[in-house]
Amino acid sequence: MPVDIVCGMEVSAGTRFKTVYKGKVYYFCSDVCRRAFEKNPNYYLEHGPIGRMPEEG
Ligand SMILES: [Zn+2]
Repeated sequence: MPVDIVCGMEVSAGTRFKTVYKGKVYYFCSDVCRRAFEKNPNYYLEHGPIGRMPEEG
């Protein structure tokens, strides 16, 4: 199972919440996590999941 790199939750590879960054596909539990990753991908790639849903905005 892929892991949501933002919140750390396991997600289905069939989810519609996904994005491609530098040729790799990342899956998310929700649009909130996806947008947080797209806003600051390097933060999550360096630090890994923060263990909770990110703040909106
Ligand atoms: Zn998430």
